[in-house]
Amino acid sequence: MMSEMFEYAPAPESRSAVRIEDSYGLFVDGEFVSAKRTFPTIDPATEEVLAEVAEAGAEEVDLAVAAARTAFERVWGPMSGRERAKYLYRIARIIQERSRELAVLESIDNGKPIRETRDFDLPQAAAHFFYHAGWADKLEYAGYGTTPIGVAGQIIPWNFPLLMLAWKIAPALACGNTVVLKPAETTPLTALAFADICRQAELPPGVVNIVTGGPQTGRLLVEHPGVDKIAFTGSTEVGRAIARAVVGTGKRLGLELGGKGANIVFDDAPLDQAVEGIVDSIFFNQGQVCCAGSRLLVQESVAEELLARLKERTATLRLGDPLDKNTDVGAINSAAQLARISELTASGEAEGAERWSPECALPERGFWFAPTILTGVALSHRVAREEIFGPVLSVLTFRTPAEAVEKANNTPYGLSAGVWTEKGSRILSMAQKLRAGVVWANTFNRFDPASPFGGYKESGFGREGGRQGLEAYLAQ
Ligand code: NAD
Repeated sequence: MMSEMFEYAPAPESRSAVRIEDSYGLFVDGEFVSAKRTFPTIDPATEEVLAEVAEAGAEEVDLAVAAARTAFERVWGPMSGRERAKYLYRIARIIQERSRELAVLESIDNGKPIRETRDFDLPQAAAHFFYHAGWADKLEYAGYGTTPIGVAGQIIPWNFPLLMLAWKIAPALACGNTVVLKPAETTPLTALAFADICRQAELPPGVVNIVTGGPQTGRLLVEHPGVDKIAFTGSTEVGRAIARAVVGTGKRLGLELGGKGANIVFDDAPLDQAVEGIVDSIFFNQGQVCCAGSRLLVQESVAEELLARLKERTATLRLGDPLDKNTDVGAINSAAQLARISELTASGEAEGAERWSPECALPERGFWFAPTILTGVALSHRVAREEIFGPVLSVLTFRTPAEAVEKANNTPYGLSAGVWTEKGSRILSMAQKLRAGVVWANTFNRFDPASPFGGYKESGFGREGGRQGLEAYLAQ
């Protein structure tokens, strides 16, 4: 799908920035410890096994929770906010110092382009630690008290592994909690590199514990009686199961779940700018973004023109080696995720949508999916209702603002939306009517640690980031 006019020379980032071990243990009480079982983590762009990683069972989860409890009671809970802040600043600075290594490692383990890990994931992860370091000694001004909850069990997905870790760990530590974090089974490596950063920062042992493993390890953590709070980011289905497991236990719960964001383009929108925003909203991170703008709602009178420009722009995207600095679209994270995207896209065609992708040669090995646009999608189609979590845009049209609002809100989710129009008054009125945790206007996918993020309805509850995000880690 590369334009015929330009042939780019490959510009790969060097893998020598990272040293991947053959095997990794769990990080418990400041030490790497082995487990009875292991599982492989692979490079989704090549299917090469990168390392064997320990799978935490009941015994290891017990040890991790006990270490977190001891650290909470003896060291981290009693420590002043001012002292805690020093550690968080130190971690933030080490993330910056080691950002090249972490960016390469994330691209290799996740499949996302180095341009994104380098320019988005890493700066954002460091920013979350800096931001929360600033809060650690000022909690009384946030208005949620200064008492930590205790031990937080945190479970994160694979789409932004290090960044989701930062979203979870930074506020928990700033508020005086200790954590046991479980990264996703397909992307454990940056969490383990973070464990090394904790050692480098001389964080007291037990304050951060990393237990790698799959759903069973997650279940063990959720059900562990020594955990005071569960913070989960992942699919709505698993979120429901966790809510059922936690109810009646007295544990606090935060859920950041899926989405089916609508990007709404009015006929007075600057179309070229909107095209850039749409491309970013659905092809960024191969569309594996909870707040992706996976539904494009375009006003009928400009639909034809917008789609023509969108296809032209999409055809210039370069798909391939995630470590190449020219790459716009990397690999899908796993074979299972690729199968889900393929099945749901095929269902869209079967239900009557028209499927378009630019001409695009996919690499022979690895998991790849070409950027895809489905036109003629109806609200009843599965592709308009279910989260696709891939580079597939469903296009619907509308005639009036009221119809746009109705269609945008006609979803079980409520995480994000985009509004493209020249009129400020329309932006404000749309933002009030859209049932979405975040509404972007004439832009998309903008994040800042100071800005709370979270959803309505089946997108979950609780907020991460900002002053509001601190509430989740304070016992009032
Ligand atoms: P997933 O729900 O399958 O897995 C998420 C994590 O939960 C993984 O670490 C997994 O091992 C663990 N897990 C799986 N089953 C479990 C169980 N029964 N008990 C405890 N833990 C369990 O989701 P995924 O496929 O890894 O991630 C994609 C999903 O995450 C998408 O739906 C996406 O929208 C959502 N997501 C949401 C946000 C947000 O902030 N709202 C951010 C990123 C991703």
